[in-house]
Amino acid sequence: MQTNILTIDAVSLSLAKGIILNGGAVAFPTETVYGLGANAFDEGAVKNIFAIKGRPADNPLIVHVHKDYDISSLVSFVPDYAKKLAAKFLPGPLTLVYKSCGKVAKSVSCGLDTLAIRIPSHSGAQDFLKYVDIPVAAPSANISKHVSPVSAEHVYADLNGKIQLVLDGGKCTGGIESTVLDCTGEVPAVLRSGLITREMIEECVGVCNEYKLRKGEVARSPGMKYKHYSPNCKTMLFAFDKADKAVEEYKRQTSNGVKTFILCDGATAKLVGVENILNLGDSENEIASNLYAKLREGEDKAQLIIAISPQKQDGVMVGVINRLEKACKQ
Ligand code: AMP
Ligand code: MG
Repeated sequence: MQTNILTIDAVSLSLAKGIILNGGAVAFPTETVYGLGANAFDEGAVKNIFAIKGRPADNPLIVHVHKDYDISSLVSFVPDYAKKLAAKFLPGPLTLVYKSCGKVAKSVSCGLDTLAIRIPSHSGAQDFLKYVDIPVAAPSANISKHVSPVSAEHVYADLNGKIQLVLDGGKCTGGIESTVLDCTGEVPAVLRSGLITREMIEECVGVCNEYKLRKGEVARSPGMKYKHYSPNCKTMLFAFDKADKAVEEYKRQTSNGVKTFILCDGATAKLVGVENILNLGDSENEIASNLYAKLREGEDKAQLIIAISPQKQDGVMVGVINRLEKACKQ
């Protein structure tokens, strides 16, 4: 199958709609990462998404809709705090998990009685979702466990020959996946951290829990348990206060002839002062935005990436550190 990358216009949107309505998959940009979308009402199309990615069958998909879509047709209950959060943060990088009313294909939620819904703010995503005007189930548009794509070229590198169309909306500015928030309880709980931070949610609705998977428990958000976001080369991760150990390891590996790069934020890059650096930048949003592009650049250049966690551990850095830990999991 030939894979075409097309800018978003009337022609590519109509092509995309045809593919989606025929049970196919289309990659599209969002403000976080590129998604691989299929008709959420079509069981075969949803199963095909799992097959294309090699995604574990127990890791549910997020359904994407345009900003004027009436989600009350998909879910059975929307608590008041979720309405407040939606009014403040949507469209945007926040996925809300509700009790499902079972209208979408069963494979979307992998047997859970909940449904995750996202309204992306990216104008290309809105155009695409408005054009198809049905809920689109979409995980990130990469091979399962690999680094998420933040450009059409990244999607192409992973899915060339497997899908017909990549809608090109340029580089994603957000950089890490949406915050996933459980809205089925009395108070919201963060299932996956992202650019909408727990602090921002608390400021809006007062209280927000952080969901932690306990040993022996069935995951409320199954995606949490996997090795994920990983570059195709060796990786190591050091905490910020072990940066000296990271440099020692860099020197040892380099002198053994292993092409090694240190991945860290701008301030840490100055501190470690080594030659091969993958610099994530300085502000929180810059670091999140550059993370996946730098991991992909790293796997092209390096045999070993030594990552150093940022010194700051709260806000958006919670999401960045979570991705780094999963990317460097052995
Ligand atoms: P991805 O599409 O690869 O960015 O991952 C989607 C994330 O959303 C994974 O962590 C899933 O486990 C999570 N997710 C999707 N649907 C649900 C749901 N119904 N309940 C809880 N988590 C979900
Ligand atoms: Mg993913």
